[in-house]
Amino acid sequence: MYHQQAYALGSNRSCIRELFEYGRIRAKEVGPENVFDFSIGNPSIPAPPQVDETIRQLLTDTDSLSLHGYTPAVGDDATRQAIAQSLHDRYGVDVTADELFIGSGAAPELCAVFKALTFPGAKILALAPYFPEYKPFVEAAGAIFEAVPPDIPGFQIPLQALEQRLTENTAAVIVNSPNNPSGAVYTRQALQQLAQLLQRKQKQFGHPIYIVSDEPYRELVYDGVSVPFIPTIYTNTVVCYSFSKSLSLPGERIGYIYVPRQATDGQALYLAVAGAARSLGHVCAPSLWQKVIARCCHLQPDLLAYDKNRRTLYEGLLQAGYEIAPPDGAFYLFVKAPGGDAQAFSEFAKTMDILLVPGDGFGCPGWFRLCYCVSYDKIVRSLPVFARLLEKWNEK
Ligand code: PLP
Repeated sequence: MYHQQAYALGSNRSCIRELFEYGRIRAKEVGPENVFDFSIGNPSIPAPPQVDETIRQLLTDTDSLSLHGYTPAVGDDATRQAIAQSLHDRYGVDVTADELFIGSGAAPELCAVFKALTFPGAKILALAPYFPEYKPFVEAAGAIFEAVPPDIPGFQIPLQALEQRLTENTAAVIVNSPNNPSGAVYTRQALQQLAQLLQRKQKQFGHPIYIVSDEPYRELVYDGVSVPFIPTIYTNTVVCYSFSKSLSLPGERIGYIYVPRQATDGQALYLAVAGAARSLGHVCAPSLWQKVIARCCHLQPDLLAYDKNRRTLYEGLLQAGYEIAPPDGAFYLFVKAPGGDAQAFSEFAKTMDILLVPGDGFGCPGWFRLCYCVSYDKIVRSLPVFARLLEKWNEK
């Protein structure tokens, strides 16, 4: 006997993984230079050099036992203080170490927060298009997952559709900006309207409705666009942050949760998050990486390479005749599927060795995602293939 829901998750590979594996097989058959794999969001710029320098320093100036030993379950004091200082410097917020929980990346942090927010019958809403893993994370926490249909073509917050879905069972709304997969960044005005709506609904239902702000792409924005820090707009916000993308450290598993003390039941909620993490066995994030982050959490990525890829791909695809969502952040372009069936278009693109992810799994059929963390050369060489793809598709 085993857990059927867990079996289903383990045995069904995600569409993104499947495309990625397919790309590896095709690369062996036709050569990696001939496969245009835009499927997976693995950073393609190296971590800032200070990260590796810090590791070398730590290896010489820190004794081995403390470098590799357990830290407190919620994370090292020095790491939490450094993050608190960095948040203060950047957003002017007064954060203290005891509002921060060091986690092993956004994924387990979200699992802990969903579990901490779940009451019997609780619903957690995600704004489409959304990261597909939210659904299993929410369901594993024991809550009901519900998607709010997207705001097309601007991909801002679908306020009206959200309002219709807010009920007294709503525990939280997941916000992910810059967004995977749309690349959209929610404007301050849109976030303020969201805050007003949630405040009104909190009053109506007589209990808090939290925003869970999933922020792995917070630093990845272009053209001077700014990403508002949501706790300064809506107090009942829990932030799940990750250094996976900002510092190009996805395999190292490090990030943090910020539960503001000013949030409703803030201190209790922090303890509930710590307790949920404990029950998931998600405590004491990697010790070496906590120490690296204590010294590097203020670093900003050098986005030149992503920006060059973004502009080239965006302009090239526009010229070829594709319709694209405003690509303000993260490292994704979200493109309207010609003919409206993204799955069919993705299958057809495979025949020309272009790998793109249909939006169906993101709750947004009719669109597909391209991840532009690939080499610039590949972007340039892909453009004529994209143009041919569209021509051939239209001839069908
Ligand atoms: N949330 C979003 C929107 C993501 O795109 C990802 C990873 O791609 C995650 C969470 C998980 O991030 P992490 O690697 O920090 O667990």
